[in-house]
Amino acid sequence: MGGSGKRMGIDMGMRCKQCNQPITSANIAESAFGTFCSDACKEKYEAFVQRAHQLESMRKPRAFARVLKSFIGKLIVILILLVALGVLGAVMPDIPVLGDAVRVLREKLGV
Ligand SMILES: [Zn+2]
Repeated sequence: MGGSGKRMGIDMGMRCKQCNQPITSANIAESAFGTFCSDACKEKYEAFVQRAHQLESMRKPRAFARVLKSFIGKLIVILILLVALGVLGAVMPDIPVLGDAVRVLREKLGV
């Protein structure tokens, strides 16, 4: 046994998350994101993750704004209908259909 082999590292049975090369104990580079075959691969992957996070954080407020917008739109419709019903009820308090109308509207709006 010479002991001076080219392959110093023991195969760890893992693969680099960036380039998919087998990882040995000699070239292993660990990070919070996973295991890599070199620091270069680790940095590459970290940069990729950071960019993905940036894109995500840029996208999220827009999606939230869209949800908020549709929610406010729904709220305004409900308010208008409530006002209209209130006015109707005030102007013509003896309409027996009004109770049913309110019920149907509520069912349609899901409130
Ligand atoms: Zn790699």
